[in-house]
Amino acid sequence: MCRVTAPSSRERRAGDACPGLQRPFAAADGSIVRLRPAGQPVAVEALITLREVIAAQPDPAIQLTSRGALQLRGLPDPLTPRVHDAIRATGLVPSPTHELVRNVVASPLSGLDGAGRCDVRPVVADLDQAVCADPRLSRLGGRFLFVVDDGRGDVVDLSSDLAFVATGPDRGVVLAGSHDDGWEVSLDGAVDLIVRLAVEFVERAADDESVWHVDDLDDPLTLGGPAYTARPDRIGGMSRAGALPHPLGAVGQHAVVAVPLGLLRPHHVAALARTTDAVRVTPWRSLVVEDGAAALPELEAAGFATHSGSPWHRLHACTGLPGCSRSAVDTRALARDLAPVLPAGRLPVHVSGCERRCGTPSTAYLDVLAPRSTEEALSTIAEQESSWT
Ligand code: SF4
Repeated sequence: MCRVTAPSSRERRAGDACPGLQRPFAAADGSIVRLRPAGQPVAVEALITLREVIAAQPDPAIQLTSRGALQLRGLPDPLTPRVHDAIRATGLVPSPTHELVRNVVASPLSGLDGAGRCDVRPVVADLDQAVCADPRLSRLGGRFLFVVDDGRGDVVDLSSDLAFVATGPDRGVVLAGSHDDGWEVSLDGAVDLIVRLAVEFVERAADDESVWHVDDLDDPLTLGGPAYTARPDRIGGMSRAGALPHPLGAVGQHAVVAVPLGLLRPHHVAALARTTDAVRVTPWRSLVVEDGAAALPELEAAGFATHSGSPWHRLHACTGLPGCSRSAVDTRALARDLAPVLPAGRLPVHVSGCERRCGTPSTAYLDVLAPRSTEEALSTIAEQESSWT
């Protein structure tokens, strides 16, 4: 079966355990800290600092998440002041009070390749600032997601709570939850509208701890008036279901490179440092390397996947053994064995060690659950691929 994931109501009631610097998650192998770029560039200097924080680990890596965040694990539990201060110094936690709610995913190539309907970078920066400036919005759950799509349709399919989708150079539609219709808005008015909707959500969800997402509300958000003023076709006929192929390799003067298993290792960071000052983290465990096209051979030599034929364009795995005690499988080792024999295909493939299925895409994907062997994984993939086509 192909799945489109959403946390079950039971998972929601189990509490928001999304980790951050102020609230690390204590795992079997130490503290986990997640850092949220909120759809904005990450300085390579920050990655170098994070690399130094984990340098003493036996297999150090910065994890890329399916929401375009960075995650460190195996940290001291509790965090030492030295580790805390070093992470803080990266600038990736600009608001301690709103750290956990800065969950913003934006079209990663917006403003770089001219493919969208507008450049949404100012909207993304303003949205982050506006969310952090409103004390009420610190009560949003850690799984609440803002999406900003520049009209190319690459992130509109993510399971967002509030999404802006550009429909022209100076306008767009704001969508709430899974509803296909929304509010037409100018580019200048988008942030204010999204913040007002987020505040309405916080106030209506205040008395019900089972409500984590807009779709959990009994009735749609309304802003106190007619709820919907735009029709579905106003988002330009874009699909809100199914996966799009994402570019890999050169995009103009820039580059998009996939990070195998979403594990950004010290040699990857070193190659980036020789190439660029900043990267953007995509929700597909890849990086947009600004001005990186000319360095693609070097980036490939450093272990990044640089072309869409690479298995790492669509193959991912959860942490699994040995980092996660819930797993009976070393998911990453299995994925490494699977990579050379993975057949070509369109949908992401995700190997999970247990039914929690951590890190799965928000869009449709092929679900490889606790396979006992590469052969079993291949058989599962073939079966699901044939049922999808
Ligand atoms: S899916 Fe299960 S095994 Fe994999 S990381 Fe999550 S809890 Fe651990």
